[in-house]
Amino acid sequence: MVSIEEAQRTILGQITPLETEKVSVFQGLNRVTPEDHIAPWDIPAADNSAMDGYAFSHAALSGGRLRVTGFLPAGEARTVPVPAGEAIRIMTGAPVPPGCDTVVPIEDVAEEGEWISLPAAVTAGAHVRNRGEDIRRGNVVIPAGSLLRPQEIGMLSAMGSTSLAVYRRARVAILSTGDELLEPGSTPAPGKIINSNSYSLAAQVLDAGGDPVLLGIAPDTLAATCGKIQAGLNADILVITGGVSVGDRDFVKAAIEELGGSVTFWKVNMKPGKPLAFAMLEGKPVFALPGNPVAAMVSFELFVRPSLLKAMGHKRVFRPLVRAALQEPAANDGKRPHLVRGIVSVQDDSYKVSTTGDQSSGRLSSLIQGNGLIRLAPGAVHAAGDEVEVLLLDRGFEMGEA
Ligand code: AMP
Ligand code: MG
Repeated sequence: MVSIEEAQRTILGQITPLETEKVSVFQGLNRVTPEDHIAPWDIPAADNSAMDGYAFSHAALSGGRLRVTGFLPAGEARTVPVPAGEAIRIMTGAPVPPGCDTVVPIEDVAEEGEWISLPAAVTAGAHVRNRGEDIRRGNVVIPAGSLLRPQEIGMLSAMGSTSLAVYRRARVAILSTGDELLEPGSTPAPGKIINSNSYSLAAQVLDAGGDPVLLGIAPDTLAATCGKIQAGLNADILVITGGVSVGDRDFVKAAIEELGGSVTFWKVNMKPGKPLAFAMLEGKPVFALPGNPVAAMVSFELFVRPSLLKAMGHKRVFRPLVRAALQEPAANDGKRPHLVRGIVSVQDDSYKVSTTGDQSSGRLSSLIQGNGLIRLAPGAVHAAGDEVEVLLLDRGFEMGEA
């Protein structure tokens, strides 16, 4: 048996980033840039007023009264110097004109006709945003490998970009196997169950920014399994579920080998989801995950998602691991590390976690209730209040009632 980390290392060692493509800056959201983005100009481009106020030369100040001789709105620039001892009325964002270095906000002065009286103490340079104080021309503002969030999209736009290169989205083919499976839309006859894994896995692919391709269901024969796997090799990554154990009707491993792949088969030291097979087939990563719905999703989380993210250029590919206070006793009397579905919340600045109850690996409802995986080492016995490690699985940590 190998550890989760060992299996992750071996798999990730074989994943390389896909090609890049050009998209509009806006379409770049949640993608990764392969290039450094360098500022083409200073931001701000000129010293400018941080307030609606009055601009003047601090050195020429005497007495604290100034005559206002001009007006400068945002969007205009003045090249004619403001004479010493005079002020201009200036709006937020307007470039501070020659002859001025200081701004006093409108609300801080007393206005009397064309004169203003300044407050007692005015600091030289106050309320002026300096040229380049945000971004300096020539600096790398967004390094290669960055995830493009809304703020990066804004910064790229501020640097004048309209399009950019990003790693392309991976196409991930998804294949379910099993004679017992029916597609949703029908009521299962005796002995049959509905194929839910294709859809939970496809949703996990979408959620990670990939592009799922549904291959449907392969019946439990070697020929059918080979045929579907072959079709899946048109995608960038192939994910198969079911048929990977040692049952009489488990053909996935044999099918990959039949097609020329050399399969690394692991009994990964984890619960749920012990069996896991991985192969490179025609240069494409092929994952064979367990069929149990919970095991399939948890295995996707641990092995496929990081690989998918790496293929799409991401540098950070693992979910956050936090420490949380258990809200109830929990124990692992098994021999494998147990990834217990947990309900995580943030209270009083710290994470709290309770389990979702029955942990049978067929119970998809445990993942509906849960939003994290508690890692319980073999033999662990925890009392309520103990700190445990939890992998945070989703973004559902927003607070408050709408
Ligand atoms: P297997 O690994 O093929 O023996 O499947 C293990 C268990 O997972 C069986 O109870 C299957 O019926 C169930 N299972 C396999 N594939 C799927 C699927 N696509 N959707 C839902 N359950 C499945
Ligand atoms: Mg099966």
